[in-house]
Amino acid sequence: MSVLGDAAGVLFDLDDTLLDYTAARDAGFLAWLAERDPARPKEHLAEWQALEDTHFRRYSAGELTFGEQRRARLRAFWPHLGTVEDVELDEVYETYVGHMEAAWRPVPHARDVVLAIADRVPVGVLTNGHAAMQTRKLRLLGLDGLPLFASSELVAPKPDARAFEAACTGLGVATARTVMVGDDLLNDVEGALRAGLSAVWFDRGRGGTASCPTVIDLRQLLDGWEAGSSRTGR
Ligand SMILES: [Mg+2]
Repeated sequence: MSVLGDAAGVLFDLDDTLLDYTAARDAGFLAWLAERDPARPKEHLAEWQALEDTHFRRYSAGELTFGEQRRARLRAFWPHLGTVEDVELDEVYETYVGHMEAAWRPVPHARDVVLAIADRVPVGVLTNGHAAMQTRKLRLLGLDGLPLFASSELVAPKPDARAFEAACTGLGVATARTVMVGDDLLNDVEGALRAGLSAVWFDRGRGGTASCPTVIDLRQLLDGWEAGSSRTGR
């Protein structure tokens, strides 16, 4: 029996599930820091990582907007930016995005596995991210034909049940027959389970345990998965 069970639809998280976000974030940050603040040692990457975790969680919890969590990180990392106008901070952030984008790489086997599943059942991407940027990521992955459900265009981000319900409605599959695949235990796994979906945790080796099937390589999603027939040729 496959970890996908009798799924009639599958949703994938994007960052650190299909695209190797953390590696790109770290490489992009270091290039950006060297350009913007060369006196600051690269060990400050850990501080930036922690600020991202803190403020993105606040966004996921509905405390901050997407733009506010970005600006909060910048102002915490560079206190002298505390009084700078939002529009100027957003321009600073865009220079960081440029460095990150240059480092975007797929998670191994992402495209092949997703397309193999999409050959049988509806597949979409449900992501806490900005639609414009996430669309560019899907294009890089060669997956830009997939339905994208980005939190910037939903009433709430994951782990809110409404995010999962909107994505399932968009796929045309009942929540009870949909499997969410993602790396984040709170946003992807717990959120999906609470919303009535099944979940598969993609364990990227950063600790934790899940109360659902777990894979460490995306190809494991296809192991033993014979449910449903190919949609090709219908
Ligand atoms: Mg993720």
